[in-house]
Amino acid sequence: EPMPGYATTDPTTCTRILEFRLHSDGEVDSRVRKAQAAYRRSTESDVTERAASLIRTARLYRKNAERLAALSVLEIGKPVSQAMAEVELAASIYEYYGTAGPAMLADEPVTAEEGRAIIRTAPIGVVLGVMPWNLPYYQAARFVAPNLLLGNSVLLKHAECCPQQALEIAILLRDAGLPSGRFTNLFLSHRQVADLVADPLVRGVSLTGSERAGVAIGELAGKHVKKAVLELGGSDPFIVLPSADLTLAVDVGTAGRFGNAGQTCTSAKRIIVHEDIWDEFLLSFVDKAASWTTGDPADPRTRLGPMASRSARNALEDQVGDAIGKGATVHLGGVVPDGPGSFYPATVMSDVTAGMRAYREELFGPVAVLYRARSTEHAIEIANDTPYGLGGAVFTTDEHEAAFVADKLDVGMVGINKMIKSAPALPFGGVKNSGIGRELGRFGVDEFSNKKLIHNA
Ligand code: NAP
Repeated sequence: EPMPGYATTDPTTCTRILEFRLHSDGEVDSRVRKAQAAYRRSTESDVTERAASLIRTARLYRKNAERLAALSVLEIGKPVSQAMAEVELAASIYEYYGTAGPAMLADEPVTAEEGRAIIRTAPIGVVLGVMPWNLPYYQAARFVAPNLLLGNSVLLKHAECCPQQALEIAILLRDAGLPSGRFTNLFLSHRQVADLVADPLVRGVSLTGSERAGVAIGELAGKHVKKAVLELGGSDPFIVLPSADLTLAVDVGTAGRFGNAGQTCTSAKRIIVHEDIWDEFLLSFVDKAASWTTGDPADPRTRLGPMASRSARNALEDQVGDAIGKGATVHLGGVVPDGPGSFYPATVMSDVTAGMRAYREELFGPVAVLYRARSTEHAIEIANDTPYGLGGAVFTTDEHEAAFVADKLDVGMVGINKMIKSAPALPFGGVKNSGIGRELGRFGVDEFSNKKLIHNA
């Protein structure tokens, strides 16, 4: 069992390599004051300079991509090719807000009955981001870049298992010439996070993580009248209808489920297949899934590394064990291998029913569950029978059917003949227990802004 605290633990061996101490309450307090002072100074500074520092940050991400990716390999076992792609995505987010961002802050005129009125998109102060380990650079960038552009000061509390990646983010922003205090990395306990949400100087909190963490942070934010954005778990449906290009659906579905060892919020967690193509699809999906063999994440050919930690693997093992015990069918994998590390094989299951944990809970690992649907309507019904509502996908060559399904899914994002793939300009977020609010694009700037009305007589 992993010990608590900030530490680098190599998931290929489960050895603890480096530990970091928490910041003391006194240190946290003085850094929050420094962040507030930097915010006060920043509101006077020019947006052009803030945007330029984001573009310099993007360059530094790209320049240091190999070192950053190597840390993802080391701390979370992410295959290096996938880690490189994530660093590039993070860079593109900084670049996007540095380039397209200033126009998003332009004053908007409104028609008033008398006088001249404008709405100014102004910053609100110090904001706190609580981030998960699964895409450590990308998740942080989605929160950090738009808020720095806006003029907020940003505090980051990253997950316990990616401390070196959190420190790298701070170094890159400093090297990009960001004024001191505008960005602060903090190693915090959950109690210290709660204290920060209560601190009058902290004006908002954004959490990306599990539903459990979202409930805790949302409750605190409500109590202290703080704006909260919650980007939580998902159990995304991936619907395959009879007219679909099956080769495409199998390729995209397996990559969408087994990439990042299944530890992505918008992974294709529930593959819902029309009965007319069930046999053919199942055969082909299992065949393709079998090609996702586990390997050393440092090897550029590896597509499936270990899970990020033993505790993550144990949680998945319990969920799969519960399903098997209650009658689920395992077509591939499902057995934890002997040996070191937190490896888990690509797994395919079916016959998962409502009484099993796997039916309602998010499976945050390389386990695909296939559900058989009698009709398009039945597929939609299965898709929506979940507490979550993050993303979803539908595969069909019938345009009207695609539009119908896209309309009926209770999700924040839906892909047609593709998976939702995050990009800087595309809003990201969910409905139901997948959270509140949107990141990226224009919405990413608006969430922690003060839409200030300025009305001239
Ligand atoms: P997690 O356990 O909820 O942790 C996420 C972050 O929240 C970590 O920094 C964690 O700190 C912190 N945290 C957890 N409970 C807290 C509490 N009570 N008070 C203060 N901070 C708290 O989630 P995870 O296992 O790392 O990440 C996986 C989850 O994130 C999955 O459910 C996934 O779907 C979701 N996710 C959602 C999105 C999205 O955009 N919707 C994106 C990526 C991931 P410690 O590390 O110190 O515990």
